[in-house]
Amino acid sequence: MLQKIKEELLCSICLNVMKDARMCHNQHNFCRECIEEHLRVNAQRCPQCQDDLTLATLHPARVINNVISKLKINCDYASRGCPEFINVEYLERHVQNCGFAPVLCSNERCGLEINKRDKIKHETELCEYRKIASHDFREIGEMFQRSFEDNLSRKIEEKFIEVKESVKPLTAQYTKIQKELKYVQQNLSTVTKEMMESRKQIKN
Ligand SMILES: [Zn+2]
Ligand SMILES: [Zn+2]
Ligand SMILES: [Zn+2]
Ligand SMILES: [Zn+2]
Repeated sequence: MLQKIKEELLCSICLNVMKDARMCHNQHNFCRECIEEHLRVNAQRCPQCQDDLTLATLHPARVINNVISKLKINCDYASRGCPEFINVEYLERHVQNCGFAPVLCSNERCGLEINKRDKIKHETELCEYRKIASHDFREIGEMFQRSFEDNLSRKIEEKFIEVKESVKPLTAQYTKIQKELKYVQQNLSTVTKEMMESRKQIKN
């Protein structure tokens, strides 16, 4: 983000956009915190022009502060789809929380780079390496049960047809035996009749 901002708005000590800018009498600007620490720790001189400088001779940089407060720039992740146009003072905070920031899918073996705001949906619904949720297990169980039952009833039907086929010759044989039996019975009754008749004749 900082490459997009004019150098005059960057503090030469911390290299960030200046916060509450202060300047030397030659209009060299720094963050208030940065220059005050420099004056305390390093030397009572401007880090750029080396002129004498103390807390007392430091001026507020009103023009710079005014420009910065009105400066709005694109989010770092504009190219990833973030539509935000943010005041530079809030940019850093926004970028840290921006939903378009790249993150990696945490599912084992995936490692796909996705937008932070899509992470949960990707990891739980879209990712091909997502862990199977319990409701998926139930579904699989039901599918298995259904296909097991389908298979079973088809197998029973097949077995039934097979048995029926194998019984067919037996049935034919049975019918034939029955016919033969009937014939034998008829013959028998004829023989018995004849026997009775001949007995009668013998009596008479
Ligand atoms: Zn600074
Ligand atoms: Zn200076
Ligand atoms: Zn953003
Ligand atoms: Zn994934």
